[in-house]
Amino acid sequence: MGMRRKLIAGNWKMNGSVGALGELDAIAAAAADAPGVDVAVAVPATLIELASDRAPALAIGAQDVHDRPSGAHTGCVSAAMVKEVGARFTIVGHSERRADQGETDAQVRAKAEAARAAGLHAILCVGETAAERDAGRAEAVVTAQLAASLPEGASGDWLAIAYEPVWAIGTGRTPTVADVAAMHGALRARLRTLLGDEADALRLLYGGSVNDANAAELLGAGDVDGALVGGASLTAAKFVPIIRAAARL
Ligand code: PEP
Repeated sequence: MGMRRKLIAGNWKMNGSVGALGELDAIAAAAADAPGVDVAVAVPATLIELASDRAPALAIGAQDVHDRPSGAHTGCVSAAMVKEVGARFTIVGHSERRADQGETDAQVRAKAEAARAAGLHAILCVGETAAERDAGRAEAVVTAQLAASLPEGASGDWLAIAYEPVWAIGTGRTPTVADVAAMHGALRARLRTLLGDEADALRLLYGGSVNDANAAELLGAGDVDGALVGGASLTAAKFVPIIRAAARL
């Protein structure tokens, strides 16, 4: 546990504008005050270059990449393209993309491998729906998703996993701390069977309605190495307290 630094990653989704980049100034200042915490923000692709120029000390990233380096894929961007304009990482397999774009575990795995090939870090998301949790299948679903989407060469040097229950994203609802700890324990155990000792180097983030009021409790849960934060990452006023909560752990 001691070797895993906390990671607080924001996900602006399809929000933000050139005018909103000023928020990064206070986020970068808070990150500088929290040397034990890694702070990252996944902005819309259109803002990556401006964001990384404005806040070079922050890890700016993408929210998705294509699994091919180039080609006839209208509307898509590759890992090398986002890297060229300053991205240091990308999210892959966010549940909104799994639902809206029908991304499969195999595609998510290929995207993570493409990210690595381009020299990006990746945050790979997994999570169950409300129906799956109600049916008592949450751990089975999520660990199966992990096994099927885990890329070749997975290691803590470049990959983190985000557990994001679909029903907790953007809803203000969160699992109990005990449920988060149980799921992270199950994910760590599955990683050990897949990766051996390297499993202990991968950071496991929790995501889903993290805010200033619940961050300390959720970040303190067993096997939680940080958070992936949507809504509360859009403004410094909401995101900075989460960075500070991680710094206090
Ligand atoms: C997310 O987008 O990954 C997320 C967790 O969103 P929110 O924090 O808004 O629930």
